[in-house]
Amino acid sequence: MCVHPWSSRPSRSPVTEATAKQNLLDLDRAGLETFFAEELGEKRFRAHQVMKWIHHRHVTGFDEMTDLGKALRARLEERAEVVVPQVHFDKESADGTHKWLLGMDGRNAIETVYIPDKGRGTLCVSSQVGCALNCTFCSTATQGFNRNLSTAEIIGQVWVAAKHLGNIPHKQRRLTNVVMMGMGEPLANFDNVVRAMSVMRDDLGYGLANKRVTLSTAGMVPMIDRLGEESDVSLAVSLHAPNDELRTKLVPLNKKYPIAELMDACVRYALRKKGESVTFEYTLMKGVNDQPEHARELVALLQAFDRAVQMKDAAKINLIPFNPFPGTRYERPDDVAIRAFQKQLNNAGMIAPVRRTRGDDIDAACGQLKGQVADRTRRQAEFRRRLEGGEGGHATA
Ligand code: SF4
Repeated sequence: MCVHPWSSRPSRSPVTEATAKQNLLDLDRAGLETFFAEELGEKRFRAHQVMKWIHHRHVTGFDEMTDLGKALRARLEERAEVVVPQVHFDKESADGTHKWLLGMDGRNAIETVYIPDKGRGTLCVSSQVGCALNCTFCSTATQGFNRNLSTAEIIGQVWVAAKHLGNIPHKQRRLTNVVMMGMGEPLANFDNVVRAMSVMRDDLGYGLANKRVTLSTAGMVPMIDRLGEESDVSLAVSLHAPNDELRTKLVPLNKKYPIAELMDACVRYALRKKGESVTFEYTLMKGVNDQPEHARELVALLQAFDRAVQMKDAAKINLIPFNPFPGTRYERPDDVAIRAFQKQLNNAGMIAPVRRTRGDDIDAACGQLKGQVADRTRRQAEFRRRLEGGEGGHATA
């Protein structure tokens, strides 16, 4: 396992090859401190000053970092840079939802969505260019997979949104929550995602509380355990079906990690984070998983989870009416069917909010995200092969 000299975490923080400069956006606090100490011979507090310039004031030019001495600024200019994603376009929905298409390199782009709601603002962040998991109801999956995003490309999405919103951590909070629910499976890009989430939660970064950063996984069981060991964020699981036969059709990863194994991993996660609940996402599709027997099975599954964790409401469920996209074979159930499903869960004592559809006029609703995914065929096959072989969390395509 390779350990980057100025990072607290295993796995490399890429130095921009053409210029051999370190992109400071690729480093969390510990990584920046080490970079300042070992590469520049500077004290830790200099790293802290730079972090604040980048994440609190959205400054990327060292010349503007006026509390650093001239000589240090000149050395930073030589050895480092702050490269943020390029905004190809941004669109605002009538309901205030905002979507950015962000260029990650010459050929690939991903989407990031901001959803304002009573007293909170949630940013939905992508972790990969495309996704290799191929869930059959997902728009992202139709685009295939190209590569993992770097730490800089993940935290860069937060940077772009925070700058646009005029967000100032601890003072003017427009961005209160981050959900790793955009394009990609975050646990298949573990190190970069965990490092970016550490900047999101750092006071010198975006200052978000642990429970305000949520990682959503399709169910990469071994990586859920690793996440439990290495991070304290909230966990969400894309469940979408209450039994293996149906779930394997919707989420093919279920073949490798069936529901029983997935629920056991969620129990271990919840027990490790005493008192924290796990959220289960359930996309309702007409005639597929919205029938009374599905609700009954779902209740049994989640009640068993509560018992194993020995906590009432340890399992939270979010119901998401399917958002159709061109070419899909699935349909959204009508409102009566959605309410009936919800009522069955409520009658069993479960809180089961139905997620309001937001931003569908700009194709920013759940499951509708699509970027520009280049050169996907060969990479997708390779990535899938690695997942099948159990290498998923370490794959870097
Ligand atoms: S639902 Fe999530 S894990 Fe499944 S294909 Fe879409 S982005 Fe990937």
